[in-house]
Amino acid sequence: MTELRSHLCGKWVAGSGAPQTLLNPATEEPLASASSEGLDLAAALDYARSTGGPALRALSFTQRGALLKAMADSMQAQRDALLELGIANGGNTRSDAKFDVDGAIGTLLAYAEVGSSLGEKRFLVDGEGIQLGRSARFHGQHIAVPRHGVAVHINAFNFPAWGFAEKAAVALLAGMPVLTKPATSSSLVAFRVIEKIVEQKVLPDGVLSVLIGSPGELVSLLGAQDVLAFTGSGNTGAQIRGARNVIEHSIRVNVEADSLNAAVLGPDVEARSDMYELFLKDVVRDMTQKAGQKCTAIRRVLVPKDKIEEVKSDLVELLSAIKVGNPSEDEVRMGPVATKGQFEDVKAGLQRLGGKNVFPTASFSRGYFFNPVLVEGASAAVHEHEVFGPVASLLPYESDAGAIVARGNGGLVCSVYSDDQAFIDEIVPAVAPFHGRIFLGHPKIELSPGPGTVLPQLVHGGPGRAGGGEELGGPRGLAFYLQRVALEGARPVIQKLLG
Ligand code: NAP
Repeated sequence: MTELRSHLCGKWVAGSGAPQTLLNPATEEPLASASSEGLDLAAALDYARSTGGPALRALSFTQRGALLKAMADSMQAQRDALLELGIANGGNTRSDAKFDVDGAIGTLLAYAEVGSSLGEKRFLVDGEGIQLGRSARFHGQHIAVPRHGVAVHINAFNFPAWGFAEKAAVALLAGMPVLTKPATSSSLVAFRVIEKIVEQKVLPDGVLSVLIGSPGELVSLLGAQDVLAFTGSGNTGAQIRGARNVIEHSIRVNVEADSLNAAVLGPDVEARSDMYELFLKDVVRDMTQKAGQKCTAIRRVLVPKDKIEEVKSDLVELLSAIKVGNPSEDEVRMGPVATKGQFEDVKAGLQRLGGKNVFPTASFSRGYFFNPVLVEGASAAVHEHEVFGPVASLLPYESDAGAIVARGNGGLVCSVYSDDQAFIDEIVPAVAPFHGRIFLGHPKIELSPGPGTVLPQLVHGGPGRAGGGEELGGPRGLAFYLQRVALEGARPVIQKLLG
């Protein structure tokens, strides 16, 4: 069994104490062990701040972009091995594992390009200069400079590769060193990615550290120049936000949490039309891809009341064709959920949703399997509780789709399937304040990725329940890692300073 170690202070180190065992969720076989007990996290953070920070800040955006490209190349070179690890440790089908690993590579490459477009500068000039006095001599200019701390990234179990890369790409491009902490249960993929990056000396010393195992006192050691980006459950997010030092030092925190993403079928859409088929396809994909363990997955399926029986029967037919099983087998289309804890959470969540489940629970002697679950007649909990598995609820609407969607109280993405401009004009402003992204499904979009795919060019995050965070969005994402500062003074001095 592999013993996973952490890379801190420029060295690989193992924790002491009883390790946590990482399992294959399809077979429950142990794969690796990890412990972070006794590791000197304060020294690790200091090392990143004092060694990695200056090394990165000395580089231009173009040069930092080149580092991201080299990270992507390192992942690409071991892509097959990473996919195998995703299948074994994450319960992913090969296609699920590609979604994670290729998404990571694509995001690193997208930010490498952002780096090239920002050029040889080391900080951002924000907007035009402003004349402040009667003469042009008194001048103001905003700039945004990298913070001098460390960017700590705490990730959820469901995207060990993408979760690492989508945060690291933005922080490194902005000029902040990263200490990343994958969720322990699925950390094999992230461990292997970083092991290679370290072995190949892709990055300057201290620029990337990884903590494998429980976070221990990590959050309490952060200071005013550090930032913390967290992805995971709303409860853990709230705990982190409430940490004493986070409040006392105004530490920047970004939280990406739960979401009750809705898909709305417009009243104009006829059964069997291309739009209708697209809608069904997106719902089925989101329910089954990664066994529904995507923060962006459709959880609430809103359908005009008079079409609900038809949609139900079509979804049942499509979902019945999904073969559930060990994802190492080629014909399997949906694997297990990732851990025993997750299995228990989904069971409890289904109880809480109530209503009627269209499929029986899958019966396997080992492993954490569910069949896809389409819930009818769910209780009000459908707007309050995210069941993080292959579960979605059918909800009929009359003229109140926008109001029903808004009951989710903040989400990552809402998708709308309609060709009726009047309906689109009405629903978009009704749901926009509650979401980070609105996906307007259309059959004419070639190779539509569906609402569940997060693109590096667009912001990811959402208000309220979704954590109130914002990541990615091309150059927009850099703002979290930069300090905006206003320069005020004589114009020639400021202009010289800016080069
Ligand atoms: P979780 O239990 O909250 O864990 C997330 C991460 O936080 C893990 O790395 C975990 O480490 C760490 N952690 C746990 N307790 C902590 C503490 N007190 N201080 C600091 N870190 C702590 O969430 P999860 O079960 O992995 O993820 C599932 C949830 O993530 C779902 O609700 C899903 O919606 C959400 N999610 C959101 C997004 C998004 O972008 N909005 C994306 C993916 C997932 P250990 O693993 O070592 O315990």
